[in-house]
Amino acid sequence: MSAPTPPLIEAVGLTKHFPVRTGIFNRSASVVRAVDGIDIAIPPGETLGLVGESGCGKTTTGRMLVKLIDPTAGRILFEGKRIEGLDAATMRPVRRHMQIIFQDPYGSLNPRMSVQDTIAEPLEILKIGDARSRREQVRELLEVVGLAPYHAERFPHEFSGGQRQRIGIARALAVRPKLVVCDEPVSALDVSIQAQVINLLKDLQKDFGLTYLFISHDLGVVRHISDRVMVMYLGKVVEVARKRDLYADPQHPYTQALLSAIPLPDPKRRSRRKVIPGDIPSPANPPSGCRFHTRCPHVMHVCREVEPHLMQGAPHHWAACHLVHPPSTPRPAPASV
Ligand code: SF4
Repeated sequence: MSAPTPPLIEAVGLTKHFPVRTGIFNRSASVVRAVDGIDIAIPPGETLGLVGESGCGKTTTGRMLVKLIDPTAGRILFEGKRIEGLDAATMRPVRRHMQIIFQDPYGSLNPRMSVQDTIAEPLEILKIGDARSRREQVRELLEVVGLAPYHAERFPHEFSGGQRQRIGIARALAVRPKLVVCDEPVSALDVSIQAQVINLLKDLQKDFGLTYLFISHDLGVVRHISDRVMVMYLGKVVEVARKRDLYADPQHPYTQALLSAIPLPDPKRRSRRKVIPGDIPSPANPPSGCRFHTRCPHVMHVCREVEPHLMQGAPHHWAACHLVHPPSTPRPAPASV
């Protein structure tokens, strides 16, 4: 049996707590536990879908992995080397290998910068090539993402939302990254355009050998691009599995509810939608025990007191729920999820 491929990016015990400051002395009164000790490992060439409701910590996770924000605790390894404590100068050669595509194709582009300057900016910052080679590279990248070379002279307001997202993708690809964090890259787009952008991302993954962390609130969207899917709730990972296993046999009640909310293409088939009651609790004061217990239709006494840990129930399938793994179940040896 061949050895498993080492991850391109790995995080262990990744944690981000934001202090909440109050009063005239700006004292730290409490902390928002945006991400609370999660493990992630993405092998080269894989797409890991990261899913959850707004406020679950998925965007914070993506930004920590590419060091746009520093973690409060935990280790981050890129190609086996620790990066979480690196300063900006030491991080610079690593940073070119990790890029991010943002959600908002309108807000993520500077309206005063031409497409040429927007896409060439990361090349200039990293001092890659001269002005002429950068101009040529921008024109090539525009063609790669389905735009025309003459678009380089135009400004963001002259493009549609889908075209702007293509510009954002070209900008991310300019420095030939290995890892791209796609942070809700299609959620601001029309459904027909969403499919085009996802197909483009899939093609680029093959052509450029990219590894993706694909963040979305929509399990229906994630299905089209992911190899594995990780579900987050209130700063914790509640389930992770290969795509086909997660969609065929979701283990966690939260995942089951998210899946039931995906619209069915056939209107004659009645949706058995499981509505999740209530709002997501505040990450400044998460519920005791299982964080989902205030909204779970299967809540038991133990759920309010004992936190369920992520445990393996089937090959490549992990879930954190007392229904699936009662607290008396012996804890399996830690393994990379
Ligand atoms: Fe629901 Fe309990 Fe499972 Fe949490 S541990 S998801 S409350 S059954």
